[in-house]
Amino acid sequence: MTGFDVIVVVDWSGGNDRGPKPKADAIWVGVQDKDGQTQTYQRNRLVAEVFLDALIADHRRKGHRVLIGFDFPFGYPQGFGQALTGSEDPLAVLGWFEDRIEDTAKANNRFDIAGEINRTFGQGRGPFWANGLDRDIDGLPRRKTDYVNPFPDRRACEDRAKGTFTCWQMAGAGAVGSQVMMGLPVLARLRRKHGARVWPFEVLDTDVALVEVWPSLTAGPAPNGMIKDQWQVKEVARQIAGLPAADLSQMLDVDAPVEGWIFGLGFEDRLKSAPPALSNDCFALPQGVHWTPVDEALDMLKTRLSPVTGTETVGLNDALGRICAADVVALRANPPLPNTAVDGYGFAGGKGPGAHALPLAEVRAAAGDAPSDLPDGHAMRVLTGAALPTGVDTVILQEDVTVAGGKVRFNGPVKAGANTRKAGEDVTKDMQVCAAGSRIGPAELALMAATGVARVNVRTGLRVGVLSTGDELVNAGEEAAAGQIFDANRPMLLGLVDGFGHDAVDLGCSPDNRAALRAKLDAAAGRVDVILTSGGASAGDEDHVSALLRDAGAMALWRIAIKPGRPLALGLWQGVPVFGLPGNPVAAMVCTLVFARPAFGLLAGAGWATPQGFDVPAAFEKRKKAGRREYLRARIREGRAEVFASEGSGRISGLSWAEGLVELPEPASDIRHGDTVRYIPFGSFQ
Ligand code: AMP
Ligand code: MG
Repeated sequence: MTGFDVIVVVDWSGGNDRGPKPKADAIWVGVQDKDGQTQTYQRNRLVAEVFLDALIADHRRKGHRVLIGFDFPFGYPQGFGQALTGSEDPLAVLGWFEDRIEDTAKANNRFDIAGEINRTFGQGRGPFWANGLDRDIDGLPRRKTDYVNPFPDRRACEDRAKGTFTCWQMAGAGAVGSQVMMGLPVLARLRRKHGARVWPFEVLDTDVALVEVWPSLTAGPAPNGMIKDQWQVKEVARQIAGLPAADLSQMLDVDAPVEGWIFGLGFEDRLKSAPPALSNDCFALPQGVHWTPVDEALDMLKTRLSPVTGTETVGLNDALGRICAADVVALRANPPLPNTAVDGYGFAGGKGPGAHALPLAEVRAAAGDAPSDLPDGHAMRVLTGAALPTGVDTVILQEDVTVAGGKVRFNGPVKAGANTRKAGEDVTKDMQVCAAGSRIGPAELALMAATGVARVNVRTGLRVGVLSTGDELVNAGEEAAAGQIFDANRPMLLGLVDGFGHDAVDLGCSPDNRAALRAKLDAAAGRVDVILTSGGASAGDEDHVSALLRDAGAMALWRIAIKPGRPLALGLWQGVPVFGLPGNPVAAMVCTLVFARPAFGLLAGAGWATPQGFDVPAAFEKRKKAGRREYLRARIREGRAEVFASEGSGRISGLSWAEGLVELPEPASDIRHGDTVRYIPFGSFQ
């Protein structure tokens, strides 16, 4: 992660304690590291500082580098700091406030300090204004009328960042004056305690960098149901973490010796080039449709989903199974030089029919030798893989010659160029060897290595959380009361996700209880990129997955014309897509293979993949009704597709018996032995 192992973004607050329940306008801390994201609510500055202190200490112990962005100005406009402290050093301002600010959860002296500064510099009428308290403060005007500011109103960076507030305004919606005053002492303490460096005043040569950010620069609106501050710290942490190292160092390289600067100003496009968030209506269905055909459902997923994973550069040893983030081209041709395909004797040009005898040169060429020179009219010993010496363009197999008395004898004809490989006949330099979106397998590793590619830009893994829901479920191995069953879906779905090549994350099991399920989804949303639930997806009393997603305002119940499978609940939870599968294990597996698998491919940056099927004769009979597509558990024996005896959606044994699915299209059909049916092996879904 671009020189830093952890990116932390803090939405700071200048106000008092906000209570235990997560709220807007309090402090939110977003953390992004290799394992994912979390956002935590901090009810006041004191607990936030303790939290940050522990977080930094923990990462320093692990040898990690931490970048922490705070959303308040780290400096005041030109001239103020020097007037206040008598020093040109912007860090002196941090110390000045640290010495004077008194802060508790319930009260602090920021307005008094503002009044004191105004009495010293601005005849009691500036530079600070707005008093958030009931009591009057000598020197601090309540309104901006009659305001006098002996210093510039804005910093240079604020002139460029539309919508920023000045650090002189101490109260009122959006004011940052209080945040600065209550934040600078914290910077000073983190700096002293952890050797943190304060950007852009200091060189970032320790493990901890403190950087000024302004989330509104790039964060965009929050998804439905999510607190804006939480969303912003999540989004900005993700954006910074997704920056290529070169971009990050360029963006940190600013010259703002006393006023400070807003990180990313002028580079908004780069920050926003981290994959975009999915839109709230990405799962909306057309009005008035009752049963959506499978292909239409697939088309909708295909057009509305986009990659959500970031990118990183890894060495070839770590690239197996990863998805290429950008096209990769050959750095060198393969083969790089013309060479011999066999062990034999090389010479110049083709030879006509009849006997030939060529004097054998002393030189010899083996694989790895730099090309030598062959004297005119001679032949020389060459070994497989040797670059052709100058003067050799044709090779004869050693089995076809006799060598005696310093001569190589053979019978023609021999075609010019025989038994040689041309330079670049496999791959030319700059030819594409791996396309963006393709998964890197052993063959791709060979191709990249052969063409000199040692490092490759790949997608970060798609983290798929798997959650079971249902009061009846217990884990295998646990005590099951009467009426309870063992959770079969979770191990199955974790296995499927793993087989698709994504990072499967076990989210456990939730009872049929809205609060518990909400807590599970909340915790999951910070940790994973997509959530796969089973059970509770329909519209019944105990179908809490769909109920919660509906409340969050970003969900659709897809009634798809498919058997097996009841409705799929598709929605976004805090911007994270949720695939709500039916609880029946057979339906859960079929819907995962048919819908979730290609959708996950898109989210992962691998593009959309349709499984390959084969037309084979049926070894079964079936009358199928019109109107929906059916998938039967099937396998091939003696070239024919046989299907499992029962179509029961709870028959897990049939899933295990099967090796693939027979896909029967929507129209009615009367299938007889020997009729052609479409068979898709499970392997085609990997
Ligand atoms: P639901 O979709 O929640 O109404 O569940 C439909 C059926 O699937 C019920 O018989 C459930 O008991 C069963 N079921 C739900 N989740 C699981 C699971 N994780 N493992 C096995 N069976 C399940
Ligand atoms: Mg249920």
